[in-house]
Amino acid sequence: MSVPTLAAARTLLGQRNNQPGEEAQLAFEAFPTIGLTKTYCVDAQIADSACTATAYLCGVKNNYGVLGLTAAVPRRNCSASLDTSTHIDSIAAWALADERDAGIVTTTRVTHASPAGVYAKSANRNWENDAKVREDNQDPNTCQDIAYQLVHSSPGNQFKVILGGGRREFLPTTSIDEEGTPGLRTDGRNLIEDWQNDKISRNVTYQYVWNRDQLMNAAETLPDYLLGLFEGSHMQYNLEANVQTEPTLAELTEIAIRSLSRNEKGFFLFVEGGRIDHAHHDNLVELALDETIEMSAAVAKAAELLSEEDSLIVVTADHAHVMAFNGYTKRGSDILGPSDQRDESNIPYMTISYTNGPGFRSHVNNTRVDVTSESNFRQLRWMSHVDVPLDSETHGGDDVAVFARGPQHQMFSGLYEQSQLPHLMAYAACIGPGLHVCNAASQIVQMQSLLKNSVPSINQLLIALRHYATGSHLLAVADMGGDSLTTSSRIVKKVSQAVVSLRREFIIFPDTNRDQDRVKIEFYGITRFPNVLGCIDCTNIKIQSPASSLDTLSQPYNKWRTKI
Ligand SMILES: [Zn+2]
Repeated sequence: MSVPTLAAARTLLGQRNNQPGEEAQLAFEAFPTIGLTKTYCVDAQIADSACTATAYLCGVKNNYGVLGLTAAVPRRNCSASLDTSTHIDSIAAWALADERDAGIVTTTRVTHASPAGVYAKSANRNWENDAKVREDNQDPNTCQDIAYQLVHSSPGNQFKVILGGGRREFLPTTSIDEEGTPGLRTDGRNLIEDWQNDKISRNVTYQYVWNRDQLMNAAETLPDYLLGLFEGSHMQYNLEANVQTEPTLAELTEIAIRSLSRNEKGFFLFVEGGRIDHAHHDNLVELALDETIEMSAAVAKAAELLSEEDSLIVVTADHAHVMAFNGYTKRGSDILGPSDQRDESNIPYMTISYTNGPGFRSHVNNTRVDVTSESNFRQLRWMSHVDVPLDSETHGGDDVAVFARGPQHQMFSGLYEQSQLPHLMAYAACIGPGLHVCNAASQIVQMQSLLKNSVPSINQLLIALRHYATGSHLLAVADMGGDSLTTSSRIVKKVSQAVVSLRREFIIFPDTNRDQDRVKIEFYGITRFPNVLGCIDCTNIKIQSPASSLDTLSQPYNKWRTKI
């Protein structure tokens, strides 16, 4: 879901609604905060979904193709992965450790790299079943495959909802699933039965479903644990799906949220529109854009079900693709059609094409072919044209967008490493290692005398802020107490201006008990990092943890969990 993918998908959405299209908006594009993340991995300039999942779910960058293990583990190196110091937990494990719930929803196999990043520790993303581990001459009893880990290991075996595709990874080669796909396991295990037996042994309610009707029935009276595997491999593309058997991503998301919301302490849910990537790999641009619109619908459903007051929603991509949105096409032109411009030989080219992939056409007499005259032009499976012939289009190295809504959404602005994402989410949710918003006010520096009964000048604030915002120290400012809305807002606004002029990272720390403060912060806040070093007008601040040293607070944030 590269930035050009978003622009093209929103245009298609608008055009489906009989608008020119360019002015349309995907659901998450309305979120109040946007940022960008850098997606490279430790050994890769252009990432795959395994190392990026480890970054945005576990908070550590690692090697291409590796899941849940630090960069000390080279890909396919089973023995290196046995060293537990290389193991890293995901934000789902952090949530579970705090007695919250967790779940995964995807349109890919639930064992595919992105969802596997939520629960698996694997030196190779391809080890989705035991046969794949053996293919690399490794012992699946030593390095367990990803499906096995989901069913038998924490945190996967704690997930209240697991919804997606991939039945074949759970079934033995001797069995064929409900829709005719043979199992791939060579260890004779039926992991769907294992999953059910595990729930029986824990005396909890559970249900396994494999089609949409069963899912909708299960949703009537949700069991404690729900496993839905709707395809042998990945789920079908939305535009090609059998609507009788395949739920939409929005439906899956709604049911997952309803299930997880039963935990009053909260939950972590991973939702993936995983087939945007697959359609791009095949240069099937209409499918890629439609899957992006489906992702938008799922986010819209989540935003409708979850309160902005207490639920943080973060939408991002693992990496970009090499789809180009190009040419000087006129406003409102078919986003899936040709540019209004032609090439130097007067041959049409498409507004959307790709740098590489299977859609290569050999040139004839040194000229490009006119793809608009092809018999299947503009059909769903028509491939866009490309420059470099490859059997699969590649990922892109571009930064990807982050959209955030809900508590602490402001922290997600700016350009930062992808591995910061789970730390920011965990800070807002008060789970996992590191600081939490619930007790971040551990170091309070009173500046009341400066501010008493008046709004300080920008120069006064700059002097005060320079004093604290030195080196790598992060600065926070609290706007507290009984000021009138107008006075407080003026203070916050001036502080914001001052901090921006200093180019420091800071957070305004509101009294979480006062909605009025939160509103002001939302309006003026340009907040970033979770350390509090300064507090303005702190008379009523609630300090929930004892003071810690400045040394602790000054640790660069992105070093918190880097173990490589
Ligand atoms: Zn991909």
